[in-house]
Amino acid sequence: MNIVELQQAGKNYQGVEALKSIDLNLQQGEVLGLFGHNGAGKTTTIKLILGLIKPTVGQVRVFGDDPTGDNAHNLRKQLGFLQENVSFYQQMTGREVLSYFAKLKGCDNKQVSHLLEEVGLDHASMRRVKTYSKGMRQRLGLAQALLGKPKLLLLDEPTVGLDPIATQDFYQGIARLKAQGSTIILCSHVLAGVEKYIDRALILGQGQLLAEGSLTTLTEKADLPVTFYLQGSNLQLPADLDAHTFPINGGIKLQVSQQQKMAVLKQLVALPTLENIDIQMPRLEDIYRYYTNDMERSQ
Ligand code: ATP
Repeated sequence: MNIVELQQAGKNYQGVEALKSIDLNLQQGEVLGLFGHNGAGKTTTIKLILGLIKPTVGQVRVFGDDPTGDNAHNLRKQLGFLQENVSFYQQMTGREVLSYFAKLKGCDNKQVSHLLEEVGLDHASMRRVKTYSKGMRQRLGLAQALLGKPKLLLLDEPTVGLDPIATQDFYQGIARLKAQGSTIILCSHVLAGVEKYIDRALILGQGQLLAEGSLTTLTEKADLPVTFYLQGSNLQLPADLDAHTFPINGGIKLQVSQQQKMAVLKQLVALPTLENIDIQMPRLEDIYRYYTNDMERSQ
């Protein structure tokens, strides 16, 4: 059974086509990165999956059920959600906030201490939320999303406000949840952070699906080049390669296709004056730029 299934699902807000007939199947243990410029339809997709809004066209199924149907209450107990710009009751302590949400979700209050510890808030758990920094509020939001060990976790900009170590801890937590079988949808504009942790990416543009698949598939489809950064004194590259070079930071940048990579690498390491070589494969940022530019080019 698919954990999430969108069949030609679309949403129209009084004339604004926020989402145009999207298909998506998500299986247990998968981590999906949901990307797109501002206003692309990411939050609308998340709201459809959470059952906060109904699709104008098509169908949405979560755990095989309609998330806005009669069983929605039970279904939501298996969901965890962290919204962008999370805000809580300022006068309550972190522990009180979490206990309150645990009660609402029908979870065992024993999880509260454990989760506060997991997100690094145990030392501040008795302080009122109004005294928390932005990053601390975000950590509390994460703890709230993890209540009840959700089978499906939807996280909208989860690392906003987190320091580099907390961000790293967060992604390690995502890897652990995935290993335990949770399905996760991550929405983020910080592409470098999520890259290593997603199985698939879905890129939206103005409500349309621009691309969907593993990073390998999307890279191959786009035929994105491999970049070599070369350092050495008086480096002379063979003429066929020289045509694809640019000078950079006292060295040379060379771009070739994926298919040429190994052959070119052999040529490069044979160069007598080569002192250093760095190889950069296409990153999620390159993939994102390619597919979103593609949309802009076709307009
Ligand atoms: P961001 O990265 O800025 O959060 P997003 O990809 O999450 O953007 P959505 O919030 O899904 O984008 O919005 C998609 C489109 O739908 C936008 O044009 C937005 O203005 C519109 N929209 C969203 N909610 C409503 C609403 N309640 N009423 C009218 N239009 C809406």
